Amino acid sequence: MIIGAGPAGLSAAEAAAQAGLSYIVIEKGTIANTIRQYPVGRAMFSTPNEVEMHAGTLRPVREKPTREEMLSHYIHFVLDLDLKINTGETVVSVNGNINEGFVVKTDRSEYKARRVLFAIGAMEHPRHLNVPGEDLPKVHHLFVEPYAYIRKEALVVGGGNSAAEAALFLSEEGAHTTLAIWRDDWENRDPKAGAMKHWVRTPLEAEVTAGRLKVVLYKHVDEIREDDVTLTTETGESMTIPNDVVFVLVGSDADLTLLKQLGVETESGKLAEVPVYDPETFETNVRGVYVAGHFTHARHIKAAIDVPRRIVPLIAQDLHG
Ligand SMILES: Cc1cc2nc3c(=O)[nH]c(=O)nc-3n(C[C@H](O)[C@H](O)[C@H](O)COP(=O)(O)OP(=O)(O)OC[C@H]3O[C@@H](n4cnc5c(N)ncnc54)[C@H](O)[C@@H]3O)c2cc1C
Repeated sequence: MIIGAGPAGLSAAEAAAQAGLSYIVIEKGTIANTIRQYPVGRAMFSTPNEVEMHAGTLRPVREKPTREEMLSHYIHFVLDLDLKINTGETVVSVNGNINEGFVVKTDRSEYKARRVLFAIGAMEHPRHLNVPGEDLPKVHHLFVEPYAYIRKEALVVGGGNSAAEAALFLSEEGAHTTLAIWRDDWENRDPKAGAMKHWVRTPLEAEVTAGRLKVVLYKHVDEIREDDVTLTTETGESMTIPNDVVFVLVGSDADLTLLKQLGVETESGKLAEVPVYDPETFETNVRGVYVAGHFTHARHIKAAIDVPRRIVPLIAQDLHG
């Protein structure tokens, strides 16, 4: 049983098919659902060799593939190999153990599995500011496209690449945009510490210089109301700005509930809580339960694809005796 049809789940499906395992992928959204939720037209940070399923099979028009080229690539991978994936089906519980087998319940059916690989990504719970007004319909925790916000007052809150890209796209497409960012994030130039990529920062700074984009170094957002937002600046002043739409892009967390219910232990990772697993086999402390992809320490797409190729043959060996 493979849970999730992102790059990790797709890679695992191919490896399982090659190893002659009886497998199925259960995906609650669509194939490559996380990538489908990237901003429309977005160019990846990665080059094709870091995200393609097989060397030379992803041929983007430019140096880096777009969201659409990525989606087409992963979808055709599934179609060409005729991988077994149920989309629009959510895994709601996993019980059992390696000796008696696992029972995987979904919102549609129930499956028996001898091994379970969680490839569930880390996008389940977008982080919230937890401030009054965050539940208003104009507040979004995902940015998909700027075209509805031309000449509107847009506020983006966040310090990573997602927030920076959203602010850039909004500003470039004529939204009156403010980016509220902590000074540490704004001044961070260390790519290993999650600094904004330079090809995002450079055009972003050009928008600021041209007077189209405002950057507010802030401490916290105090309240979001129908027509404005009040925040406290880093110097402690209260600032109220007119507002039509807010994007809160401050990261997201995996949902580790199913793993924890099975008895999988977790630890604090660099960015978030991570399951405890063997770094060689990616088996968790619960025998027969494996993890791969974005919610492990091997977060990027390249590792999400490579890890299942390593571990699924080991699982097959074990099963075939
Ligand atoms: C805006 C953005 C830009 C990014 N840019 C890059 C980049 O340029 N380069 C790069 O390497 N990485 C990038 N990443 C990270 C990249 O998206 C992840 O590394 C990649 O998606 C990991 O693949 P995955 O298979 O582990 O998880 P995901 O792609 O997140 O797939 C997990 C899947 O599991 C499904 N799922 C979860 N729970 C259940 C359940 N209970 N039942 C059924 N299905 C379930 C989800 O719907 C999802 O489709 C970016 C991420 C974001 C958000």
